[in-house]
Amino acid sequence: MSELPIVPQVPRPVDAGDHGVHRRGIFDPELLDRCISCGFCLPVCPTYALDKDEQSSPRGRITLMRALESGRLEPDDPTLQHEASYCLGCRACETVCPAGVEYGPMLEQWRDHQWRAGHGPALARWLRWAVARRRMLQLSGLVRRFARTRGPVRDDVAHVMLGCAERALFPAVSQAARALVPGADAPADQGCCGALHAHNGDSAGGREMALRLGRDLPGTIVTTSGGCAAHVAEHLGRDRLVEISDYLVRTGWKPAGRLMTRGADGRPRPIRVTLQDSCHLRNGLGVHRQPRELLEQIAEYVELPSAASCCGAAGSYSILRPRDSKRVLAPKLDEIMAAEVDYVVAVNPGCLLQLKQGLLPRRARGAKVKAVHLVELLVRAGSRAE
Ligand code: SF4
Ligand code: SF4
Repeated sequence: MSELPIVPQVPRPVDAGDHGVHRRGIFDPELLDRCISCGFCLPVCPTYALDKDEQSSPRGRITLMRALESGRLEPDDPTLQHEASYCLGCRACETVCPAGVEYGPMLEQWRDHQWRAGHGPALARWLRWAVARRRMLQLSGLVRRFARTRGPVRDDVAHVMLGCAERALFPAVSQAARALVPGADAPADQGCCGALHAHNGDSAGGREMALRLGRDLPGTIVTTSGGCAAHVAEHLGRDRLVEISDYLVRTGWKPAGRLMTRGADGRPRPIRVTLQDSCHLRNGLGVHRQPRELLEQIAEYVELPSAASCCGAAGSYSILRPRDSKRVLAPKLDEIMAAEVDYVVAVNPGCLLQLKQGLLPRRARGAKVKAVHLVELLVRAGSRAE
């Protein structure tokens, strides 16, 4: 007897009958109507991979958005509330969608409504408040001795964007970035780019902050944060905002040599590295070849099977949903250990922190692998004078 193909349970083409009858105006209708419920996005969705639950998939969440838009569900519906925050916002679903669904903007519109006027997680509101305080950001950076230039802001050089988390947590990253972009300015008086606002229920505030950053930093802005890159590029354009691996490849950066270490036999060997992509850099801007190209010049590069899949940091997700964030990260840590690398490289401060924290217990048990930002390795390799 021939086997019948297993047809997945596909939800009703949602709200087909509701369109044009009732709309709350939460979502851009052109975006919301694009999904054809094919399900191609399910295999790449990290939360669907964890639970195998339709409502925790991109298709399931679009179904929920349509129910919210049509009034079939109220914003205080527990499933809506749960899924609005459970989604990582990684946008992996966009990369495989045959209908061109732009999930990222829809998630922003969803959270703008779902988390409006004090309805969202209190921690998200506090984070939005904290990163909007420019003086506080500057103080945290000064304490950590981040790279900064003094004097008036010039408009004839590139500017290094310092980032709010990075300047407090990883000052060596901004110092390395300045060393790699000769002549670049790094004005201390620059605010947060607003990505955190845009992803946490205040897209208007996020847009305003990105535009303000554009006024603070005239000309080309170079960022070491893949997460911020997609948000700022959306509002300032890709000519103005360039992520650093993209910048270095475009400008023809070459290392002075490879980074070496000693193997178990005591003989010199190139360091072995792997990379964790930044979701928004890869899925939002399509930048993924560039960091690999740079790493291959300075090290033995090993591709991580799940490099393109979210590490669970996802902006503020690791703070808002720490348990789920760890569940997403766990299989990746096993892959990193199996790859037997010296370094796992991040291109985003959130991913760097996530990997560092995730590796701590394994390092305590003797593992040698370290998490570093791409620019920290590149600067160690030195720049070749042409
Ligand atoms: S792949 Fe695109 S069209 Fe298909 S279900 Fe997912 S979001 Fe909808
Ligand atoms: S953004 Fe990421 S977690 Fe959210 S639905 Fe898309 S693939 Fe899943």
